[in-house]
Amino acid sequence: MSKENIRQYAIDIGADVVGFAAVADYHSPLSPAPQEIMPGVQSLVVTGYRENHGAVESPNKRISMTSRMGGMELSMKNNYLIARYIEKEFQAKAAPIAVSYPLNFGGEGKGLIGDISMRHAAHAAGLGVFGRHNLIINPLYGTRMIYTVILTDLPLTSDPSITEDLCTDCGLCVEACPANALEDEGKTAQMRCLKNSQPYGIGGTLKYLNSFISASPEEQKSLLKEPVFLELYQAGFIGFQYNCWQCMAVCPVGIEG
Ligand code: SF4
Ligand code: SF4
Repeated sequence: MSKENIRQYAIDIGADVVGFAAVADYHSPLSPAPQEIMPGVQSLVVTGYRENHGAVESPNKRISMTSRMGGMELSMKNNYLIARYIEKEFQAKAAPIAVSYPLNFGGEGKGLIGDISMRHAAHAAGLGVFGRHNLIINPLYGTRMIYTVILTDLPLTSDPSITEDLCTDCGLCVEACPANALEDEGKTAQMRCLKNSQPYGIGGTLKYLNSFISASPEEQKSLLKEPVFLELYQAGFIGFQYNCWQCMAVCPVGIEG
């Protein structure tokens, strides 16, 4: 019964899909064991939120990002509320995990590895399967989704896995990637993707700072007026700004959802 109560609560506050995975069924090749976050963890509650089609398809990536930030904010608030609901209703412990950041920059992954792999969690919770773009395809809503997780020591059984291969192997995502980051099947070339999708992320910041510290005082004055500095300044207080949604935008599966 607890699963259905949690599912209904999450749907009522705005999640589009909700799934459950027993911790033994969650396998991420890179992220650390969930026990490092919660020693007694038994289960993952996974929620998914639809991206807005108009925003994903917009040529203005500030608009795509505005919608993404709305989804991230809603998911963070809901994760907090769902964790509180689990603790109150079932006398269990629950810990919400952020959809994208904060990240661990001090560990081996240097900020490239999340505390929990949302994609592997969504897969374990029966919410979708991996496509050629290495993203999760949900049977109802396709690729245009973001997923978040709540860890809990409440024992819950995994939802049934999806056995159907939802990826049609059309190859559109591979062709559309401007960074050629999807050439090797089953692997996203992360640095290539990040360079293109986050021009004002860490790589862009380091490049700018390096050019700044080696410039003359006059050149530095000019560099401070460059649009790239203003973009970095803006990203510094808003958070990571994604500039590419191509692999998500071109995938034809489920976009009528
Ligand atoms: S986000 Fe952009 S750069 Fe990264 S894999 Fe997708 S299409 Fe390629
Ligand atoms: S765009 Fe085509 S190949 Fe790529 S994930 Fe979607 S269905 Fe699969």
